Amino acid sequence: MSIYSLKMRASKHTGSIQEHVSGAEKILPQQELPQQMEALLSRALHHAKGKADFINLKIEAVAPENLKYIEALPVSTHEAATPAEGRQFMCQIMTELGLTPDKCQKILELFQATYGMRGAMLLDVDTLERLEPDQQRGIRATYMDSIAPKGEAKAICDGKNHFQEALVLASKVLSAPNIIGELCMSDDPDYITGYIATRDKGYIRITKLKKMGCPDGGRIFLYRGPKSQVEECIRYLQEQRVLVKNVPSNPYANNTPKPKSTSDKPWQIFQDILAQKKSQQLYRNTKEISSAQAAHIIYQGQNQLMLASNDYLGLIDHPEVKEAAKEAINIYGVGSGGSRLTTGTLPLHNQLETALASFKHTEKALIFNTGYMANVGIISALGIKDSIIFSDELNHASIIDGCRLSHAKTVVYKHNDMKDLAEKLQEHAGCQGLIVTDAVFSMGGDIAPLPDIMALAEQYHVLTMVDEAHATGVIGATGRGIVEHFGLKRQPDVLMGTLSKALAAEGGYVCGSQLLIDYLRNTARSYIFSTSLSPAVLAAATKALELLENHPSMVHQLQENTRIFCKTLQQEGIEAHSDTAIVPIVLHDEELALHAAEELNRQNIFISPIRYPTVPKGQAMLRAALMATHTPEELCQAAHTIGQTISRLTDN
Ligand code: PMP
Repeated sequence: MSIYSLKMRASKHTGSIQEHVSGAEKILPQQELPQQMEALLSRALHHAKGKADFINLKIEAVAPENLKYIEALPVSTHEAATPAEGRQFMCQIMTELGLTPDKCQKILELFQATYGMRGAMLLDVDTLERLEPDQQRGIRATYMDSIAPKGEAKAICDGKNHFQEALVLASKVLSAPNIIGELCMSDDPDYITGYIATRDKGYIRITKLKKMGCPDGGRIFLYRGPKSQVEECIRYLQEQRVLVKNVPSNPYANNTPKPKSTSDKPWQIFQDILAQKKSQQLYRNTKEISSAQAAHIIYQGQNQLMLASNDYLGLIDHPEVKEAAKEAINIYGVGSGGSRLTTGTLPLHNQLETALASFKHTEKALIFNTGYMANVGIISALGIKDSIIFSDELNHASIIDGCRLSHAKTVVYKHNDMKDLAEKLQEHAGCQGLIVTDAVFSMGGDIAPLPDIMALAEQYHVLTMVDEAHATGVIGATGRGIVEHFGLKRQPDVLMGTLSKALAAEGGYVCGSQLLIDYLRNTARSYIFSTSLSPAVLAAATKALELLENHPSMVHQLQENTRIFCKTLQQEGIEAHSDTAIVPIVLHDEELALHAAEELNRQNIFISPIRYPTVPKGQAMLRAALMATHTPEELCQAAHTIGQTISRLTDN
């Protein structure tokens, strides 16, 4: 992947004076260049300070070995009552760097000299000697950017994000050799906030540092070290290419300008976002399947082997399931007429909840309209203020959205990494907490190490939640899911699942204690404020659950199918392992995954290519999803075709 540094400087002439309008810099992959260039141009042309008449865009390739990745400094805020108190606080932090109060005061006075300098002052904190070779110009820390969170493209923003840019700069400066601190006060007379950053304390935003209207401002880098190393420090600040990881979004958004809209074209921004997705091959569309979903489907007029469905037990088209749905319509009609707590509870809702609780061996169950809504509702309700949600980095999007909607802090731990989880639990020991994980991960098909998670939860007195969307009807001797799979004596506190996969219908559910269900019935907003599931869906899911309970042989067949399919793929030279219905065939290369799926489609195998951002870049795969109704013979044949197709494509 080619990486580029992109810099924009814009100015305009007023009479003979050239006035600075805007400047920005980014470090980004080649495919993001056109969009970001356009956004920066738009910033320069529609700036509040006026339209630029000179715009300089500089684009330079960055050699990967010259790029350094660093962590963003931790951020906190000091609310200063007055500018004097804000400065006092800055001094106090400086004294922790070993400076006398007298010296701290002198350093603050230097802000009168920094005003008007284009760059920063580099100060030897012990001698107060200025170290910049050109004192008029100062040191310009440059070539740095934030890196978008894993799985996301960098946001396009044609307004400035002062907070993120300042944090990126401070993080780079504090990673420079012999820099022990940075002081910053805005030189904008109307902006009175500033910060101090040190290696120990991180980035501390100080809300008041000067009086409104005061032009003092600038940056001072605090240097402590031998003179002979100053040059290297300056080189690092001015030339080292740096990407800063984990830069949080602006927590003080109210204080910064809103993204600008060109008011005559309010749809423009959305058109731009779609254009960006297209340019990055991330644009999505639907595929129409013109038959019932089963082991074989009709797609584009062809009979195809379905290797991408969530209908793991093949019950969508089951005669008894369909009959149950029809009968429910005959009795109750087509809709439920209200939300659960108003007029939307039928006997069918209560019967299904009782059946789910009994199947999962819990006291109670509660149904939601989709699995997505279940996760969002449960997690946002349990994630109360000041609590912590510990979430696996590969958890499903609905879990992530539940975390985002909650009032809790989310701490993401490395995928299935118990050491990392233990460390994070230890860091937050004593907090109200919830560990949440997919039981079976939706892309990799791997299983969460639940016994270890439960042991850690017990040790740190936090709750546990598993999402059994891809586990129910799939793992465990009778398809009861992850608890049965591991033969656990104790249940996690929250067992969430969906009715839309092995149970063939739609809807989500949660099983657990009476207390949990009472609490969610009273607090989960996606449960309370949405019209409940309709009769046909409820009857279908109830019948599917009954079939699952009475015919565990379906589960055994599915498990056997996985074994046979993986074994045949391995014979074809493909690394494929799974204990679930999801078999990832990792190809790494995005293009290869796409071509392989298209090629297999031509051979009447319907299989999904999975690429970034669903999986990290370089982890592109074909994701095979198996069904109990596939025959072992057709799976062997499919595995053979997949093996041949991949080797043909990789040989070419
Ligand atoms: N959790 C996981 C792990 C899932 O894979 C899905 C669906 N893909 C959901 C939750 C959401 O379930 P539903 O489709 O019923 O909304």
